[in-house]
Amino acid sequence: MKHNRRQFLTRSGIIGGTALTLGLNTNLYSKNFNITKKNANMKLSFKPYTLELKHVFTIATSSRSTTPVMLTQIEYDGVIGYGEASMPPYLGESQESASAFLSKVNLSQFKDPFEIESILEYVDGIAEKNTAAKAAVDIALHDLIGKLLGKPWYKIWGFKKDTTPSTSFTIGIDTDEVVKQKVKEAEVYNILKVKLGRENDKDMINTIRSVTDKPIIVDVNQGWKEKEFALEMINWLNERNVKLIEQPMPKEQIDDMAWLTEHSPLPTFADESLQRLPDVIKAHGVYTGINIKLMKCTGLREAHKMLTLAKSLGMQIMLGCMTETSCAISAASQLAPEVEWADLDGNLLISNDPFEGTKIINGKIELTEDPGIGLSKAASY
Ligand code: MG
Repeated sequence: MKHNRRQFLTRSGIIGGTALTLGLNTNLYSKNFNITKKNANMKLSFKPYTLELKHVFTIATSSRSTTPVMLTQIEYDGVIGYGEASMPPYLGESQESASAFLSKVNLSQFKDPFEIESILEYVDGIAEKNTAAKAAVDIALHDLIGKLLGKPWYKIWGFKKDTTPSTSFTIGIDTDEVVKQKVKEAEVYNILKVKLGRENDKDMINTIRSVTDKPIIVDVNQGWKEKEFALEMINWLNERNVKLIEQPMPKEQIDDMAWLTEHSPLPTFADESLQRLPDVIKAHGVYTGINIKLMKCTGLREAHKMLTLAKSLGMQIMLGCMTETSCAISAASQLAPEVEWADLDGNLLISNDPFEGTKIINGKIELTEDPGIGLSKAASY
């Protein structure tokens, strides 16, 4: 359709004529009013940064103490929007791949940031994967637009600030003594998140239950391979004030997973099984809910669409994250008023956060009034 229209316009000479007129006007304005081409265009810049984790982070398949990220900025008309790509190694992106991707992004072809649908469609089309690098552009663009409008995104979307949930706080797998210590340090949080899927699953829960009765959400990271065993574990966890089970089984075992969800007394959530918008349909009927993460789904624009679709299908929604700065966390939290569950503790797990934004007050997500993605302090470079 677009193609035909363009053919028509070209044949009738409209496109060529318009371009010529605009070209002349631009030169005229530049000369007379000192509006330079640079000011009129969006400029993307990026810089690698390494997050230092407060504790070594262990999940069912790996351990690490740093996370590579890429910080981005989009400047337009003297206003700067901030973004970030967080790239835990197991997801396949790196500072090198993000740098290669972002080098290809040419925003100067767009008139202004409000053409966000076209801009992000173009960015998505540059390469197949690179979802975190794409999110880094998406987040910076949302921050920029919100700042130009003078409103945070939760307001632009029409959400209520006071309906945000508490965030869970992850207690990493460790020795008994360290786990107890971490639970004490997590006193301010209302919900704990525990990574299971290893030999000592029951020991880990028993250790936490020896010091607190707080609700727990469990992430198995695909660790349980047999559906009967998974159901047995879920029944056991259900008796210990566990509230939900994230990705209990390998993502390939779709039939087993649908059976498990049907028999499970607790809601099940897709994480590794789900990346982007079309995956929501695939998760429907297999899981109770979905875990939306900006780094997996290319950012806020698609996350908002996933949220809308999942809600319309009657599914529950959890907002998740990687280890990230307050930049990406504040961005994700703009969607928090509309979700049942939030696991937005990535910035709380690092010791060198260059941003300030969304806060956790008494365990609950507290959105700021700052425009865009809600940053109150930003790292400039
Ligand atoms: Mg997970």
